[in-house]
Amino acid sequence: MDKNEAKQLNLIAKKLFRSHYDGCGNSDPNNCGACALLTGNEEGPNYAGWGRVFVEAERPIPSKWRMAFYDELASENEAYRKKLDESVREFGVRWI
Ligand SMILES: [Zn+2]
Repeated sequence: MDKNEAKQLNLIAKKLFRSHYDGCGNSDPNNCGACALLTGNEEGPNYAGWGRVFVEAERPIPSKWRMAFYDELASENEAYRKKLDESVREFGVRWI
């Protein structure tokens, strides 16, 4: 991954955390992607590819989602898993 691609992925991922629809009230994880990324029990957010979004946004992952994140790293979707690995190498993983 070159610096330009990393910068683009970082901007896109950060934007996803801010992209609430008007009127979601920051509390509609079933219909709002940004809310979904910030919500979830130990299974992690109900948002496809959330592991990549957190890593690429350089956003700390709540420790309650640690096992769910390990599941992301072991995803059976090989294309996703390779992209996530690449992003982890580029951005690292932060925990909170
Ligand atoms: Zn929202």
